[in-house]
Amino acid sequence: MTKRVFNFSAGPAVLPVSVLEEAQRDLVAMPGHGMSVLEMSHRSKAFIAIMEQTEADLRTVLAIPDDYRVLFLHGGSRLQFSMVPMNLLGGKEKSADYIVSGSWGNNALKEARREGNINVAWDGKATEYDRLPETRDIKLDPNASYVHFTSNETIQGVQFAEEPAVGKVPLVCDASSDILSRPLPIEQYGLIYACAQKNAGPAGVTIVIIRDDLLQRSPESLPGMLSYRTHAEKESAFNTPPCFALYMVGLIAKWLREEVGGLEAMNTLNQQKAKLLYDVLDQSEGFFRGHAQAACRSLMNVTFRLPSEELEKQFLAEAAEGDLVSLKGHRSVGGIRASIYNAMPIEGVEALKKHMLAFQAKHAGQKV
Ligand SMILES: *Cc1c(COP(=O)(O)O)cnc(C)c1O
Repeated sequence: MTKRVFNFSAGPAVLPVSVLEEAQRDLVAMPGHGMSVLEMSHRSKAFIAIMEQTEADLRTVLAIPDDYRVLFLHGGSRLQFSMVPMNLLGGKEKSADYIVSGSWGNNALKEARREGNINVAWDGKATEYDRLPETRDIKLDPNASYVHFTSNETIQGVQFAEEPAVGKVPLVCDASSDILSRPLPIEQYGLIYACAQKNAGPAGVTIVIIRDDLLQRSPESLPGMLSYRTHAEKESAFNTPPCFALYMVGLIAKWLREEVGGLEAMNTLNQQKAKLLYDVLDQSEGFFRGHAQAACRSLMNVTFRLPSEELEKQFLAEAAEGDLVSLKGHRSVGGIRASIYNAMPIEGVEALKKHMLAFQAKHAGQKV
């Protein structure tokens, strides 16, 4: 195998080597089928079996209750920013509440506002999205059609440790960058969506988990491709699904189930990995400054600054020389972002920690 680097990209992101190898083995001819998934009809028995197994494995690892549907859609999470209000708002006189904890929450809000009345229940902009709200700070409308939040803000690196309390109003979550990283109490949600390319597979497929009763809200007037009800009725094959990406999500779900041993085990490992880096921040006497407040730190995206932009550039360049790549922070916030999703091996995080400590030892004197 050609050499692999440690890839800290925020998405599309690192995938487990064993999953890539299995895809590679299957690529010319899947055992028993004589062709690859890329070439199969989405109506074939073979492909339907792949879809069913993918859903079954996701249901097992996430413990999805029977009264929830699992959909595999196109269009990324961005399309969900529109589909959620289009399907769930329930009319012109209704409104929805948005908890805005970072850039993605803001993007979701912007799209939702094109569809109807939206209230901002909380917005963390005043402190540059470095924290999450206390329950008492969230201004909820008990008559809202739903409450939307972003469980992990991929750009700022803040992550909800638990679900915001929203009473009986359906809770809708953009879990794009932390789905499958930890167990989730699915029954507390109305709808969860996640594009695959952060933590669940390659780009091209978006997972939607929706409680059955909410399917009834989809207006008849919606185009079929934008209607959850249509996709549910057609079992995610209203049109040709993103077959290969879906197959890869299936391999990830199987990897979680069989190799990792489930989401409790995954979460434990993710906690260990994140702690390695946050300990470096906390013990660096201000050399590395974490963006997120300690209580809201993401286990998936570790964001921090160095004393100067010059040093950040140098840090990135030297990291790349050591095969630690894609550590540059999002262009909107700068600094460093280490995305350490499920498939990032602990060895990669240890190597980054070593680089950080060595860099600090060399440059701490230059602190401004
Ligand atoms: C990446 C990301 C998105 C956007 O996903 P696309 O598939 O590019 O539309 C939305 N929300 C969050 C939290 C993300 O991390």
